[in-house]
Amino acid sequence: MTGPAVPARAAVLARRRPEWEPWLAPLQAALAAVAEPGWAAALPASPPPADDRRPRLAGATLELDARMTRTCLLGLVEAAERAGAPVARARLAGADAADVGSLLEASIEQDAAALVAIAGRLALEPAAVTALAPLVAMPLLHAARARWMAGVPAAWAPGYCPICGAWPALAETRGLEGERRLRCGRCGAEWPGQWLACAFCGNRDHHRLGALAPEDTRDTRRVETCEACRGFLKIVTVLTPAPAVEVALVDLETVELDVAALDAGWTRPEGLGHPLGVGVRMAAPRGLRGWLR
Ligand SMILES: [Zn+2]
Ligand SMILES: [Zn+2]
Repeated sequence: MTGPAVPARAAVLARRRPEWEPWLAPLQAALAAVAEPGWAAALPASPPPADDRRPRLAGATLELDARMTRTCLLGLVEAAERAGAPVARARLAGADAADVGSLLEASIEQDAAALVAIAGRLALEPAAVTALAPLVAMPLLHAARARWMAGVPAAWAPGYCPICGAWPALAETRGLEGERRLRCGRCGAEWPGQWLACAFCGNRDHHRLGALAPEDTRDTRRVETCEACRGFLKIVTVLTPAPAVEVALVDLETVELDVAALDAGWTRPEGLGHPLGVGVRMAAPRGLRGWLR
């Protein structure tokens, strides 16, 4: 794993924006869980066959330690509830291994309908489950990125993440050359971004590409828009890239850009850029007693 378990950047953000605590607290818990070695152990020894369009996780079978997964999930929920976001931890604590596995799978797949169905089965607020899902998937996806990023082709061309298939959370414009790199908020991966092309739909008609920039941050933070798909992408100018574990924090730090773009009628595509079709198996190596404790 790269970087400290919970980056100092999170503490800075917590001090600066105390009102974000209900989002930041479970995010910090998810980032802390990235350091748990059990996630890497859940990955297949080698990724499914490489391809220049298929994310590395596509088709993978994940064998998770049920107890570790459940402990992590309850840790996220506890952090959210401590920060004032009601999730109903008690009901989640009663979920069985199959439900926890389904929740993890739907979170990895970013499957909105499946998440709502799971919320119904567990008598939880669908909005709470949907809000928590990216964090539920985060530790496993970071483990996949740490293991497999080196094998991703340097010239990865699709707009979606080469590890987990998600659309980029943002793009970084780096250094004096202004190299553009797309970043994944779920797994921290990076891949090449194209200038004057929409990352979502590939539109290259510059008459249909635009930008929104707040007056005060025009040089460092802005939004690019595409009239073909109505999508928007946040662009941040940086000297050095954000470490993988900090991408989700940069995404949160720049939420004003999302608000401005959404207010102006731009959207982000729903779901993943490429389906994954992962299989999640929950194993209980210590026996059922551990699970039911
Ligand atoms: Zn990713
Ligand atoms: Zn587009």
